[in-house]
Amino acid sequence: MPDIAVFGSLNMDLVVRVPRVPDAGETLQAHSFMTNPGGKGANQAVACARQGARVAMVGRVGDDAFGHALRTSLEGDAIETRHVTKAPASTGVALIMVDDSAQNRISLIPGANAFVGDEDIAWLQDDLATARHLLLQLEVPMDAVLKAATLAHAKGCSVVLNPAPAQALPDALWALLDLLVLNETEAALLCGFAVDGMASAARAAEALHRRGPPQVILTLGADGVVACDGTGCRHFAALKVDAVDTTAAGDTFIGALCAALARGETIDAAIALGIQAAALCVTRIGAQSAIPYRNELQALASVDGPVTLR
Ligand code: ADP
Repeated sequence: MPDIAVFGSLNMDLVVRVPRVPDAGETLQAHSFMTNPGGKGANQAVACARQGARVAMVGRVGDDAFGHALRTSLEGDAIETRHVTKAPASTGVALIMVDDSAQNRISLIPGANAFVGDEDIAWLQDDLATARHLLLQLEVPMDAVLKAATLAHAKGCSVVLNPAPAQALPDALWALLDLLVLNETEAALLCGFAVDGMASAARAAEALHRRGPPQVILTLGADGVVACDGTGCRHFAALKVDAVDTTAAGDTFIGALCAALARGETIDAAIALGIQAAALCVTRIGAQSAIPYRNELQALASVDGPVTLR
């Protein structure tokens, strides 16, 4: 009986820490190697579940060890995985090389995620019998994202989109969205102008709101969040923490936000919870391993009320 259905990607992240990136033809000894469950869909599902929401995941893995490990890991967070099915491809993989200056270089192999399509829409229909929120990202084919949003919208379910990785959206998708949550890079691509400060963020959020979504939430890293609805734009400051790794900050924010909305909190209370969860996430290394649980947020400072921008 899920509250939230997440329709999206599952990847295994293969993380190699190297002193520097090897040159062409060079063999270089690395510091370490780790395999971590990831994928924006799965990360957001985990972030929702750790904040207490009942979550069902719809997506694809390969018939291989990584696929098995990804499912088992979701089940460890009590996420419903009966609609995580097998595709005739290897499980999606992100090859992540991190050098001593903390720069990432990532090769993404979509694998099974590229097979998400009509059959998965049928599984989603099942979950939307109870779920009131559908959470989408763009690591599965756009056609499937559009069909999932169409189905949820027709059922009166709230459609939340995180348009990552950044890409243009089909015209038909805009009108189906209830909430758009994105970072500055994604906003810049969708708006066609640079988003790098509070004034341009407010302008971008307003421009995106005019295209259809009643609520737009733009995350600005350590600079917090700008939210825009029909009544104007407001800014929420981030919590001050010692950040060591910002991987999955956005996924954690969105998951906590959706979990709060699913239990009936106001949008401002849900944003505050997202800011707290993301603040804790950036103080820890890794993706899913860094996503906090609900009881961990109680020790954090509260988020200041929003400041009206325009
Ligand atoms: P993404 O991971 O999608 O690029 P952001 O970097 O905008 O997303 O981060 C999402 C949210 O995580 C921010 O709105 C903020 O609340 C929190 N966050 C990110 N970086 C920091 C930081 N250095 N200190 C405190 N909070 C942060």
